[in-house]
Amino acid sequence: MKKITLTLLVLLFAISLSLGQSKNEPVRIIMIGAHPDDCDYGGGGTAILFASLGYAVKFVSVTNGDAGHQSEGGGALAKRRMAEAKEAGKRFGVEYDVLDNHDGELTPTLEVRLQIIRKIREWNADVVIAPRPNDYHPDHRYTGVLVQDAAYMVAVPNVAPDTPPLKKNPVFLYFEDRFQRPNPFCADITVDISSVFDKKVYALAAHQSQVFEWLPWIGGYAAEVPVSPVDRLAWLGKRMAEPVTDDFLKSLEKWYGKERAIKVKNAEAFEICEYGIQPNTNEIKRLFPMLGK
Ligand SMILES: [Zn+2]
Repeated sequence: MKKITLTLLVLLFAISLSLGQSKNEPVRIIMIGAHPDDCDYGGGGTAILFASLGYAVKFVSVTNGDAGHQSEGGGALAKRRMAEAKEAGKRFGVEYDVLDNHDGELTPTLEVRLQIIRKIREWNADVVIAPRPNDYHPDHRYTGVLVQDAAYMVAVPNVAPDTPPLKKNPVFLYFEDRFQRPNPFCADITVDISSVFDKKVYALAAHQSQVFEWLPWIGGYAAEVPVSPVDRLAWLGKRMAEPVTDDFLKSLEKWYGKERAIKVKNAEAFEICEYGIQPNTNEIKRLFPMLGK
């Protein structure tokens, strides 16, 4: 009798332990961009909110950014951008990986597809976020293609057999973009990031070579960039503050209700990709608990 009670107790303990583990396991998010700063722009605010919930978040840059400057380049620039990415990762509260593919020369090869499949598997991702394959920049376009090509394959054991496959296809989402052809972006999930917008700006400012040097130079507004760090942050915040579009507002109303939606100052939106698991409303709310009840 004693033996049976003891076995029962051990069994109950084991069950409660395993239930506790699955309950406490953080949701795992991987955002994949072409350059060290792409994920930051597209999903940085949402990443800060995820990190504050205890989620495991990783940013991956598929290229090393070694072409993104007007007066620097090559290995020295890649090194500088790696350091900037690591600092940004600290500020966002995420891990930041930079793959060593040349900037401006990315093509959707099998080799890079396998790199991405391994990254998604190693992170054991529940959600993967990447650009749509319609974009002005070929690196962005091909990153979109590469991640789409990795969807489904992440669960196929005979592909990249050196890295254990995922047990299920994750949810794949797209970052927001403004491109209209062949089809405009659809804001399926829109996150209110107003409360962390300043943090997002501060984290993005870690990419000094980009936000204060390269982008102003190529965009023809280098003369606007202030000198002091405080003025630079304020300037960057103003540049990044975009009005909430009608499409975003509609999506915010769906998730947060009309009363809160109208008060949202800054938002990030995501479109559901058809090649991953298709989450229903409850599943989206489980993955994005910051959305309204
Ligand atoms: Zn980019």
